[in-house]
Amino acid sequence: MNIAVLSGKGGTGKTLVSVNLAATAGESIYVDCDVEEPNGHLFFRPQDIKEEKIYVKIPTVEYELCDGCRKCVEFCKFNALAYTGKNLIVFEEICHSCGGCLIVCPTKALTEKDKVIGKIQKGVSRQVVVHTGTMNIGEASGVPIINKLLEKNKKDPNKLTIIDCPPGSACIVMESIKDVDYCILVAEPTLFGVHNLNMVFELVQLFNKPFGVVLNKCLKGENPAEKFCLERNIKILGRIPFDDELGRMNSSGNIVVRENEKYKFIFSSLLEMIKSEVQNEAASNS
Ligand code: SF4
Ligand code: SF4
Repeated sequence: MNIAVLSGKGGTGKTLVSVNLAATAGESIYVDCDVEEPNGHLFFRPQDIKEEKIYVKIPTVEYELCDGCRKCVEFCKFNALAYTGKNLIVFEEICHSCGGCLIVCPTKALTEKDKVIGKIQKGVSRQVVVHTGTMNIGEASGVPIINKLLEKNKKDPNKLTIIDCPPGSACIVMESIKDVDYCILVAEPTLFGVHNLNMVFELVQLFNKPFGVVLNKCLKGENPAEKFCLERNIKILGRIPFDDELGRMNSSGNIVVRENEKYKFIFSSLLEMIKSEVQNEAASNS
């Protein structure tokens, strides 16, 4: 069972929900796809870490073969190539490794070399297998790292896998949710929170994924995010209260369900609700 946790922006509580659901489940897999700023590992503090570098292919030119026709420059939609003076320049940071320039080069002057763009790590925290992807600063895209993280997890399709997605709704998020069974959208109780919720709401609809909402930082009184859900008949999976104690534990890097009975109960109920939603979806599609 693959479950993605999304939010329209950072700081909404996506990692709080992801980490605590995985910890509540016990034997499970946590995958941190927030490759620009992964922080789930700061909570899990995994042991026995194994690391793998992630490479992409970058064009490199053999100047003796290049006749300066500029066909490759005209082809590259990312402006990652320029011909200045008598030399072709490759801007590696903005190259998306599509390989097209190699195909259009009539003299076979372009070949490929490997470039490290980041790494993935795997470790263990109690019964949770923790996967983390980290993209090097300044790289064009984290998609190859996310693909590698998710490809590794296809080997364990029967285990509960919680995917902590990047914030927002860009292509890197789409890559993270494309094969999941269910999406959890985390929302804050403000008008800005509704704006962010609407972004991921539109995304999961576009991908035709079953989903529900977790309302975070709930206070007494009107909750615009809750109103948004009720007006659209969106399933509310659970409510996490605004609580100084929770804030303190979370900002100290503690996994709240491992420290506090009240939160153990809240996340256990949430996990049960999600499992039943996923089963209902599977039954209605069979
Ligand atoms: S591989 Fe693609 S993105 Fe990179 S320089 Fe060539 S055409 Fe541009
Ligand atoms: S297409 Fe090939 S020959 Fe033409 S400028 Fe590019 S590298 Fe040189």
